[in-house]
Amino acid sequence: MSPPLFEKVALIGIGLIGSSLARVLRRDQPQTRIVACARRAETLDAVRRLKIADETTDDPAAAVKGADLVVLATPLSAYAEIGNRIARVLRPGAILTDVGSVKGAAIEALAPYVPDGVDFVPGHPVAGTEHSGPAAGFAELFRDRWCILTPLPDTAPDAVAKVRALWELAGMRVAAMAADHHDKVLAVTSHLPHLIAYTIVGTATELGQDLQSEVVAYSAGGFRDFTRIAASDPVMWRDIFLANREAVLELLQRFSEDLTALQRAIRRGEGDKLHDWFTRTRAIRRSIIEAKQA
Ligand code: NAP
Repeated sequence: MSPPLFEKVALIGIGLIGSSLARVLRRDQPQTRIVACARRAETLDAVRRLKIADETTDDPAAAVKGADLVVLATPLSAYAEIGNRIARVLRPGAILTDVGSVKGAAIEALAPYVPDGVDFVPGHPVAGTEHSGPAAGFAELFRDRWCILTPLPDTAPDAVAKVRALWELAGMRVAAMAADHHDKVLAVTSHLPHLIAYTIVGTATELGQDLQSEVVAYSAGGFRDFTRIAASDPVMWRDIFLANREAVLELLQRFSEDLTALQRAIRRGEGDKLHDWFTRTRAIRRSIIEAKQA
């Protein structure tokens, strides 16, 4: 068995992502002491029942005491308050990382609280499901997915290497890029698709009662896939759209232009245009399958 990467890991937020990481550590680094922090007693009860942490607490400052790795895995809107609460307790030499889906906003909220002697390595494991909470997690969640780290210019390379090693342990491929680039890429690959799913499913629920039951009955026609995405956690996604506002709005402008072009092609009966467009998108699906990201 390999020596532990970290002696004591504090997981602030122990939902889908935090608990999945706890399970990886339990499986591969059993000597590592895990402290789990959440707000609600029922969440902490579930963590104890699942036996995925050695200690539980609702106090972030108590959780990080003596930890050599602190992982923030709460919704983005909680970051600044938690940063403020843990700042004075973080141990010199500790690494602070996070798993938030928007990196510019994560850095803006946390960086002011990172004391000298602590390295902040912002990160985003690009893996998930539409489920939330500690019972929804599983160690294999991260396998063969990408994790994107967005270190700051002054982040120590050693700290980045240790966080990289942690995600590699979870089976992830790890890339590093600038936070604003990450946010633009994820706006395309994740945020806009979620917005479209939320829109379509919302529109369908506005329809009359009779039609609604038919929408459910015949959902395999494509709607079902959107409902899975639109079942994602409302708090997390509210935070993502507010935190990545600029990139999402810019992309939405491009998207509506393309939608208008397709609308015009349908109205004018321009089958060739539709066919060309759909041929291109089919090729993209195939390349995702080839990259084993389907
Ligand atoms: P989740 O399952 O809803 O879990 C959130 C956890 O954060 C819960 O343990 C919750 O505790 C805790 N929490 C919330 N507010 C808190 C606060 N103010 N102080 C302390 N703890 C607090 O969420 P998740 O899906 O794991 O997502 C967590 C983070 O990962 C988000 O920033 C998200 O952007 C990112 N992420 C998510 C996915 C995904 O697909 N889900 C993928 C990649 C990254 P209580 O139960 O006590 O409220």
